[in-house]
Formats: sequence, C-alpha cells, structure tokens
Amino acid sequence: MNPVDFAFILGQIKGQTDFLALHVLGEPLLHPQLALLLEKCQQETLRVNITTNGTLLKSRMPVLFASSQVIRQINISLHCITDSKVKQCLNPASYLTEVFDFISKAISSTSILINLRLWNITDEKDSAQQHNEYILKELENFFCLPYRLKNELTPGQGIRLHPKVFLSQNRRFVWPHTAETGSNDRGFCRGLRDHVAILVDGTVVPCCFDAEGDIDLGNIYLQPLAEIVTNARASAMRQEFSRRRALEGLCRRCTYKQMFEAAGRPQPIWPPQFNQLAGQYSSESILGGDDQTIAKGGRNST
Ligand code: SF4
Repeated sequence: MNPVDFAFILGQIKGQTDFLALHVLGEPLLHPQLALLLEKCQQETLRVNITTNGTLLKSRMPVLFASSQVIRQINISLHCITDSKVKQCLNPASYLTEVFDFISKAISSTSILINLRLWNITDEKDSAQQHNEYILKELENFFCLPYRLKNELTPGQGIRLHPKVFLSQNRRFVWPHTAETGSNDRGFCRGLRDHVAILVDGTVVPCCFDAEGDIDLGNIYLQPLAEIVTNARASAMRQEFSRRRALEGLCRRCTYKQMFEAAGRPQPIWPPQFNQLAGQYSSESILGGDDQTIAKGGRNST
C-alpha cells in the first residue's frame, strides 16, 4: 500500500480505533516506506502493532527504534525457523542471536512490548517440536530463567519472561479457505466486533485471515467504514456469532473460532470506539479480547 492511500485510510478510520496492526498476510518489515507509514500513524496518534517473522529485525532496527513511540507491540513468530523451507535458508542460531539482540536493545531503550510466538504445536512428534526445545533452551539462557520453560508453558496461555517480553505457545494454525471441504458452523469469533481488516485495494473484511477478500463487506475508498461494518452482511455475521453460529463459508472452515470455545466466553471487548460502532446495530452483548484492531495490507501488500 502506498503512503497516499495509507493516509487516506487513516483519515477514514480516525476516531474509530486507537490501534492499528500493519499486516494481513505478508511481512510488514519488507515495506520500503515503513518509516513514512509509521510517521503517519504517529500524526494520527494511533498505536501500532507489528507481527513479523523476525528475519528483518536487524536491518529494520533503526526505523523501528526511531518510531518506537508509535509502536505498542511487536509480535515475533519464532516458529518460522521450525518450518522446513525456512530452515534451508536460515541458520537458527544466527536468527536467534539477531532476535535476542533486538530484544536487548528494545527493552533497554524503548517502551515497545515484545510478544514471542511459538504457534506450531501439533499432535505429532515432528522436528518442529525438537526445534521448539532448542528455542526454549536458548530463551532460558538469554533471560536467565531459573526454571524449564518446557514445564511451565501451557498452550494458549502466555508466560512473562521479562516485564516487557511475553512468550506464547499455541497449536499450529491452518489458514482457512472457502473452497475447502469440511465445515463447522458452531462457534464464536471477535471478527467485526473489535477488529476488521482492510486489504490493499480497500476491501473491508472481518479479519486478517480473509486475505483473499472472500467476505467482501465493502470498499473503504468508496464508502465510510461506519456504513460498511454495519451493513446487512456484517450485521448478520455478528448476530449469528452472538448465537455461537458461523454464517460465512470461510468462518465455517476456520479453526480460529475454537480458541474462544477453549477459553470460555470471551471478556468484554475493547477498544470502546469500535464497540460503540458495532453496538449501535447489534443487540447482543459485546464480547471480545485483547489484541489487534484494524489491520491493513493483504492483496498485493508490501
Ligand atoms: S471465524 Fe475465522 S475467518 Fe471468520 S471472522 Fe473469525 S477469524 Fe475470521
């Protein structure tokens, strides 16, 4: 997304969220004008969450630290090095050294929160699990932990390694596709309650899993966001989720909604601006959680 379109969209979402996540699919640190995008977020007093595989943290450190006031949190997907294709071109030890160097400097000189992710648990004893053990051991050494992370980590729960650093482990997520067979219409999701995603062509979709725009709710270049998230399709989707039913084909094939079932009924949602917007048009109680809000990118992003 170019900075002009980005600035236009910031104007459209102004007052409806305090937080912005710079991703749908893709690696946000690859964006050649990242510094300019972050500057525009700062001008609009938005806080930014970044999700990255961490491979560019070293080279993008100057940009990220220069904009550290606008960055609320960086999520680093450590599980990327357990992927067989990535392992062929990335040395795990060098990767972790660079990530740890970034963390050291970030916690000593910025207020950025770091969320480390190991979202690759499966039922099989595959090589990813062996790599996880290596990563956990390196984390124990780096943070001088007096306990074994392996014994303390609970899937789906986070653990604090430092006042500004968290680690979370979870099951490997399979990206949903509408065309796939098999579906489950039972479940709740926060999509369209506390977050939406905006693809690079302006298409508004309920979440960052819909990178292909299957659930096309409207286009932010043509229509105000408030109208889009309260139109008939969006309202029906929200209402059905409040009955614990997934209306859309993509949602029926999405396993993310199982996380809410596992965690029990979600907590009252945040941020309030988006809640109010959704709440005007839905009679159900507003439910949700703790993380990202408006995401940008997707189709041809970065
Ligand atoms: S159920 Fe899945 S695809 Fe549907 S809104 Fe939620 S996260 Fe997105």
